[in-house]
Amino acid sequence: YEKIDESIAGKDELAEIGRTFNHMMEALETNYRKQQQFVSNASHELKTPLTVIDSYAKLLLRRGFTNEKIAKEALDAIVSESNRMKDLIAQMLELAKNKEYVSISIGKVNLSQLLKDVTLQLKQAYNREFQLQIEPSLFVNTDEQRLKQLLYILLDNARKYSDDKIVLKAGVENNNISIAIQDFGVGIPEEQLPHLFDRFYRVKEDRNRKTGGTGLGLAIAKELSDLLQIEIIVESEINVGTTFRLMIPLNYNERNEVDSQ
Ligand code: ADP
Repeated sequence: YEKIDESIAGKDELAEIGRTFNHMMEALETNYRKQQQFVSNASHELKTPLTVIDSYAKLLLRRGFTNEKIAKEALDAIVSESNRMKDLIAQMLELAKNKEYVSISIGKVNLSQLLKDVTLQLKQAYNREFQLQIEPSLFVNTDEQRLKQLLYILLDNARKYSDDKIVLKAGVENNNISIAIQDFGVGIPEEQLPHLFDRFYRVKEDRNRKTGGTGLGLAIAKELSDLLQIEIIVESEINVGTTFRLMIPLNYNERNEVDSQ
């Protein structure tokens, strides 16, 4: 009997090893497919501005020397499409970084100040109105540069996809520091919300092309928020507006605090 028992236990173990192996292979396959999809999307996205640059450069060669108006139009297009390519490449490199090896530098960050700094940057660059409702003395223990990058992506999107004022609220809510970025713009259809953070995903290709979007901003935002252990919640209504909410746990390993002064 003992022998039979042993052989049954052996079979179970083998089956378990087999299942684990299958799961690993499935995960590898999914990863591989995602990687292939990324490369194919990336090539397509890079090819489009390159085609525009190529045709304008040819136009410049043919008619640019005799027609100043055409020369200017062509050079403007070449500059703007090269900038688009530069942004795309920078974002792709950001996503290609191996997350296991990135160093993260945690320190005490004055969140109230950081939010004011980031909005000021955008206000000056794009002449947009930001309404700030920020509790004073909010501090978080986090990686300042990465949090700034995350906030910049969300605030810049609020600017790109709306024309009205943008409201930025920050305060303590239950056990979190909550940051809400609210715009009164085009909104996002409900069925598209689950895809928003996918690489290269855009709600309406044509509309967003005008804004110079790449569809990579929110994918980077998602990776940053995972790294910083921040939850992102999106609420949106078409033609009413969108709110992106960041939840930073207050008592998470006692990492974050609110000054009582
Ligand atoms: P993009 O570079 O195109 O802005 P993102 O990854 O940042 O790419 O965003 C993905 C898509 O989500 C955008 O193309 C846009 O369709 C939609 N989106 C993001 N933020 C907003 C917003 N605040 N309001 C409306 N749509 C938004």
